[in-house]
This record gives sequence, structure tokens and C-alpha cells, in this order.
Amino acid sequence: MPAKPAWWSAGIRFECTGSGKCCVSRGEYGFVYLTREDRRRLAEHLGLAPSAFRRAHCAQTEGHWHLADEPGATACRFLEGTRCTVYEARPTQCRTWPFWPENMDAKKWDAEVAAFCPGVGRGRLWTEAEIREVVARQQRADEEP
Ligand code: SF4
Repeated sequence: MPAKPAWWSAGIRFECTGSGKCCVSRGEYGFVYLTREDRRRLAEHLGLAPSAFRRAHCAQTEGHWHLADEPGATACRFLEGTRCTVYEARPTQCRTWPFWPENMDAKKWDAEVAAFCPGVGRGRLWTEAEIREVVARQQRADEEP
């Protein structure tokens, strides 16, 4: 029997509105994880050697690299107001939001993505193929140590 089409097979409208909301819900969404390429790109953007960038801004949990949280921080260290200060070099998970593998469940999408992110339902229509590509990109990032 062929697989049931995804609930989003007709595409999803999404456009980042720069609300910064996905950069502050740290308790709910946890760390900003960093792939090797993310670390390289951010280090270069900040004019730091990779080792200096890791010392200044990174931590590892269960073998996975992520931005180091300030004690008690509720927002990403690179957020100023609602502006990402490293936007051009932002990590993969910031680029692939909201099309994360764990978000593509209809109930979760409605409750935790559409109800939370003002960019959902706005802007251009992302096709199923484009969404699949982004989900796959985030999946590869998730699997990287
Ligand atoms: S790196 Fe930028 S886009 Fe990503 S969570 Fe931090 S402030 Fe937000």
C-alpha cells in the first residue's frame, strides 16, 4: 500500500518575521546545536580561530556541540533584542527552523510551531520537495556528533 501523503504535501507558507521567538524558548527547545561546519562558519564570522571560538562560545553535552548557555540564560547569547547578531553565519538549526524532523507531526506543528512562530502561514509557499530537503538537512545535522 503506498504511504499516506504527508499532511504538508501541498506545501506550507513560512517567512521569518524576525520575531526572535525561536531564539528565546531555550527551556522548551533546548540547546542551539552546532555542526562542525557551523563552528567553522561562526568562528570565521567572529574573526576567531576555531579553538578560540570553541573556548569562548561552545560546550558539549553527551558528545554534541552546542552554544554555551550563560547560567540562567533564557535567550541565545547571540540575540540582541529580537536581532540575531550572527545572522549571516547562524547555525544550521536556525536556518532549518521550522522544518525540523520532530516538528513535522501535525499535532506538534499546530501546538508548538504554528501557535508559537508568527512566520508560519506567512510569505511564500514552501513546496513538499523543498520542505523534505530542509528536513533532511536538519536530520543530517542531528546525526552529527
Ligand atoms: S544564533 Fe541567531 S538565529 Fe540562532 S538562536 Fe541564536 S540569535 Fe537566534
